Amino acid sequence: MTTDRLANWGVQANTSCYLCNEIVESHAHLFGECKFTNIVWGRLMQWIQINVSPSLSYTQKMTWIIKQAKGRSCKTKIVKIVYSEHIHGIWMEKNNRIFGETMKTAEQVTREITCVCNIRAKGGMREKMQQLMY
Ligand SMILES: [Zn+2]
Repeated sequence: MTTDRLANWGVQANTSCYLCNEIVESHAHLFGECKFTNIVWGRLMQWIQINVSPSLSYTQKMTWIIKQAKGRSCKTKIVKIVYSEHIHGIWMEKNNRIFGETMKTAEQVTREITCVCNIRAKGGMREKMQQLMY
């Protein structure tokens, strides 16, 4: 749960973003507009050789993903797996900073996401992803 929602429930929480420390954390900020998130996102898109602006708003990113996720091509599958692991990786990093009190750099988070994507990919997609060097 993002801290803006916790605050709405009356839960005392640090409302600034745990990743960039700059703004009240919300779903749209965490997954769309956060500087940290966008650094990771930009590196992942560079890794899979997709040319998309790293600083799209949350709504623009959602629109872009929905469009990219149509179809059954290898590229589509790669975009889907990278996007879902990106969301998971950002969520995990946020929780680790809150509960584990550890802090990874955007570079470390990106590397972990690329490793998980390579492990999760199957068949032709795995071969294609392993050709991409990060
Ligand atoms: Zn942030």
